[in-house]
Amino acid sequence: MIIEDKEFGEVIVRKSPLARNIKFSISTSGRLAMSVPNYTSDFLAKRFLNTNRKMIREKLPIKDPHEQRARDYQKKQLMKKAKEYLPYRLEYYAKLYGYKYDKCRLTHANTRWGSCSSNRTISLNIGLMKVPEALRDYVILHELAHLNHMNHSRDFWAEVSKHDHNYKVHERKLKLFSPGV
Ligand SMILES: [Zn+2]
Repeated sequence: MIIEDKEFGEVIVRKSPLARNIKFSISTSGRLAMSVPNYTSDFLAKRFLNTNRKMIREKLPIKDPHEQRARDYQKKQLMKKAKEYLPYRLEYYAKLYGYKYDKCRLTHANTRWGSCSSNRTISLNIGLMKVPEALRDYVILHELAHLNHMNHSRDFWAEVSKHDHNYKVHERKLKLFSPGV
């Protein structure tokens, strides 16, 4: 549920059977989020928001509503670009070097550029559309190499270096960027 609040903009209310009490946090979009127990009525959630206004204002870095919407828009555009590019680039390299993966997933986590799961799903962060092509390709080759080595062992890096001779430079340069949108 979303509460439209005059001061905080859109407030995300997440009902959870596991929540014991009401907790406030900041969502990745910079919106205020409340997690509440399942049985909490909308009336009660709003009342709780009102009684905690001062604490929220002082403690939580909420983005102003205008910024929240700008970020939503930016993320949507990035997702669109990523959809038209990343799965095909992954497929291209997989074919070129003889890798077999099962699925390609697009993510927008704040912390990682990509991952490879044991069921051979490769996840790529849409934030890759904002970094130089060489770094983007490096992440793709890195995740593909995980299909053969589910760790960062010497054998793993040897395989990465076969397809990206400059992988050390790329790994280092990638740290200058943040995967968050
Ligand atoms: Zn890795």
